[in-house]
Amino acid sequence: MTKYDYDLFVIGGGSGGVRASRMAALAGARVALAEEWRMGGTCVIRGCIPKKLLVYASQFSENVMDAAGYGWDFGQARFDWPALIANKDKEICRLEGLYTANVQKAGVTILQDRAVFEDEHTLRLVNSNKMVTAEKILIATGNRPTRDMGTSHIVPGAELCITSDEAFHLKELPKRILIAGGGYIALEFAHIFHGLGSKVSVLYRGDKPLRGFDDDMRDALCTSMQERGLEVLLGCEFTKVEKRGDCLHVETNKGAVIECDQILLAIGRMPNTTALHVEKAGVELGPRGEVKVDDFSRTSASHIYAVGDVTDRVQLTPVAIHEAMCFVETAFKNNPTKPDHMHVPSAVFTTPELACVGYSEQKALLKGHAIDVYKSTFKPLLHTLGGRGVRTHMKLIVDSKTDKVLGCHIFGDHAAEIIQIVAVALKMGATKKDFDGTMALHPTAAEELVTMRTKSYSKTP
Ligand code: NDP
Repeated sequence: MTKYDYDLFVIGGGSGGVRASRMAALAGARVALAEEWRMGGTCVIRGCIPKKLLVYASQFSENVMDAAGYGWDFGQARFDWPALIANKDKEICRLEGLYTANVQKAGVTILQDRAVFEDEHTLRLVNSNKMVTAEKILIATGNRPTRDMGTSHIVPGAELCITSDEAFHLKELPKRILIAGGGYIALEFAHIFHGLGSKVSVLYRGDKPLRGFDDDMRDALCTSMQERGLEVLLGCEFTKVEKRGDCLHVETNKGAVIECDQILLAIGRMPNTTALHVEKAGVELGPRGEVKVDDFSRTSASHIYAVGDVTDRVQLTPVAIHEAMCFVETAFKNNPTKPDHMHVPSAVFTTPELACVGYSEQKALLKGHAIDVYKSTFKPLLHTLGGRGVRTHMKLIVDSKTDKVLGCHIFGDHAAEIIQIVAVALKMGATKKDFDGTMALHPTAAEELVTMRTKSYSKTP
């Protein structure tokens, strides 16, 4: 019997905290978890899941348009935003209930409270003003959208803007929305609002959105957005926001004034470590406020670990879950396990989707690989009768020396579903020869990946 109240105290009931607490409890540990708001965290409550539901909602308008080429006429379309939000909220409540029940079933004590550090092994529960002690502590507090555009660029009126948190609960669908940022959240919401009928302007400071993704895919996405009628303002930042009557007016560095009903800031997320008082436990933070961890997710205090977005490594739900599983192996099963951050597939749920696994062409060259590049661009079968000029783009990056496939990139319908399975092949070290030797499944878009015989070009670093 230890001198502590619990063997493990988990701070945060999101993807990482929930998985770690359940697995540790199932391994026999006495576990408590503090969550100040709702169980499920960003992914379930105001991230991946509600976002994907809104993405589905936004795609019906195009599907109905495409249906005309197939002989269908559904009459006058009408969209009801409050009904969508209410149905989405109902589903999120159901999922929250499931998360809570699964954690409790594993024997974890859930405390609906905010936990902050008092010392190395003691946490104070802020609402109930109680102290609890634990032998090991896991910080899994996630992150939150930032409104901070940087000290060199404080925008007057930024408080008039919303973030993705509020976008999930707007009372009405904005007629005109301006979205700042060129990352996952900006582009996903841009397509959601566009599909639901809003006039959307995306304002991004760089020369093309989705920095870090393969340049060909970024170009394809940018072109597709413009063809769909989204306004994409590049090299653009706003200098002032003000309310005039019912409208918001945005002044940009390009001298333009844009009038809109909502402004969504999607300019990144910051780790949730403010007022956690980690310094009282000897836990070091990095420059963005992220918890610094070693390869085993251990902080500078050897009995305190951190997983998920709060560590600012890879901000993706499955990565947080994987890190949580590795943490339990390391801390409770005497089997030190490092999370594997290679071959992480990811998708941006635009319409169509952009998904990838492995290196982009630019990253492969930076890493010193001589590469062969295979590309394919085609009109998906669905759109032949649908009539819209939609194109799918696929790209394989192959190591010229070893023939290993280093990266796979798709911009097109179902890209995320396809990339998930390609990730298995890449993790196993598949070569281009393996792709070529795989039987095609016809007629699909994915068959293109195993029928790309002609090299588009080669490059050396
Ligand atoms: P991202 O880091 O993806 O994008 C942030 C964007 O904001 C970038 O375009 C960035 O520009 C821009 N930006 C940053 N600072 C400023 C500033 N001061 N002024 C103007 N623009 C600025 O962050 P998101 O908030 O979109 O998403 C956070 C993370 O959440 C993602 O990185 C991803 O890991 C995860 N996520 C994953 C999803 C998925 O899997 N589908 C969906 C949503 C989120 P620049 O490129 O020039 O730095």
